[in-house]
Amino acid sequence: MADRYAVFGHPVSHSRSPAIHQHFAEQTGQSLVYEAIDPGAEGFTAGITNFFDKGGLGANVTVPFKEAAFALADECTERAARAGAVNTLKVLDDGRLLGENTDGAGLLRDLTHNLGVELGGASVLILGAGGASRGILGPLVDAGIGTLHVANRTVAKAEALAKRFPEMTAVTVSGLDRLPTRAFDLIINATPSSLQGQALTLPSGLLARDTLAYDLAYAEGGTPFTRWAEQRGVPGRDGWGMLVEQAAESFFLWRGVRPETAVLLKR
Ligand code: NDP
Repeated sequence: MADRYAVFGHPVSHSRSPAIHQHFAEQTGQSLVYEAIDPGAEGFTAGITNFFDKGGLGANVTVPFKEAAFALADECTERAARAGAVNTLKVLDDGRLLGENTDGAGLLRDLTHNLGVELGGASVLILGAGGASRGILGPLVDAGIGTLHVANRTVAKAEALAKRFPEMTAVTVSGLDRLPTRAFDLIINATPSSLQGQALTLPSGLLARDTLAYDLAYAEGGTPFTRWAEQRGVPGRDGWGMLVEQAAESFFLWRGVRPETAVLLKR
């Protein structure tokens, strides 16, 4: 029987992860099946435990289960521990569960390798303070960004997130309704507003000509956030590249082979 992997989410039917991992498997000559499993809002721990009991070797975990996956893992990598969130689980040789977070590495690879963004000294605005923000902040800080502003609908959550990264000293926080009046090098939309079909109400003063507006959400033809930037003459990118790159990181953790991402990035 082929090795089994899956993505757990609620909802999960929209997930492109099965197609991405099937592509990686064919490309690298690995025999595996990868399915999408929705265990229901309350069914994550039971569902994923059952999956591993029946021989599953690894899983991706998406909204809203990343914190539950962190709690479930027997041991975590440093970056998962720093994020307090797990998007990849792997069964170790001794049967224990390893938790990893590949979201930040995926974003960084897309920004620096695929898009050629220079992060050293960059001024960065992150919109949202949920699980995705927690996963991407550590790697951004490590990449040497210069200043960071975290803006979230609930300000207390932005404050709590900023406190997780005391090594980043040039950091400010605010509500989404009290954004700074200056322009940033990089603006990351880490809210699910685009998935909800909404455009955030943002002042144009956040944008300079060479700002990159990056939405973690992805959609053919762009998202409300990337369109907001593009309509103002500023480049916008959606999170497809991040999705593909974080999947490649997970695949490497599971299979020990690093797949090529270039074909998928072209979509
Ligand atoms: P969470 O549900 O954990 O976080 C949601 C955050 O967004 C909270 O800070 C919340 O604010 C805020 N928020 C929610 N809805 C709105 C809204 N309508 N307007 C303004 N703020 C809002 O989600 P995640 O952090 O896990 O995911 C965020 C996005 O990132 C999703 O679109 C997800 O698909 C995407 N993502 C993409 C990945 C990729 O590989 N491309 C990987 C991971 C995530 P509050 O605290 O006030 O509730």
